[in-house]
Amino acid sequence: MKIGKDKVVTIDYTLKDDSGNVVDTSQGSEPLAYIHGMGNIVPGLEAALDGGSAGDKVSVSVQPDKGYGVRDESLIQVLGKDQFAGVDELEIGMQFHAHSEGGVHTIVITDIQGNKVTVDGNHPLAGMVLHFDIDVVGVRDATKEELEHGHVHGPGGHHH
Ligand code: ZN
Repeated sequence: MKIGKDKVVTIDYTLKDDSGNVVDTSQGSEPLAYIHGMGNIVPGLEAALDGGSAGDKVSVSVQPDKGYGVRDESLIQVLGKDQFAGVDELEIGMQFHAHSEGGVHTIVITDIQGNKVTVDGNHPLAGMVLHFDIDVVGVRDATKEELEHGHVHGPGGHHH
């Protein structure tokens, strides 16, 4: 079976940065399962896997515009500590979920100077060239329920 729209694709993956450091990998945990054509994974990787099949090994370098986006400096903001009411102790690296018209996204504290807290709303991997090594483990048809939910059920996916 070939990888195409509405197929559930199971992959082992390793993601490295430009220096060859491993940023993320499925090694040591279960493979990732996603529905092809639904934007579950970054567009550059989805395109590279299109038409493939189980047993394929795919190595691809994905540019930021086909990955997690280019960095947007306007997403870096300086806030006052009083805007974090209810948080006992603020630390660099702390993550918060921010709600906006675009949905929920994660912001991270990148600097604290006195009462001023710098936060960055960019995806942690924004602006990065993504080097993927993929082993295609399996390809199957998505169920009707999976297509309705927009995600995979069972191994490598959602359990609910
Ligand atoms: Zn579901």
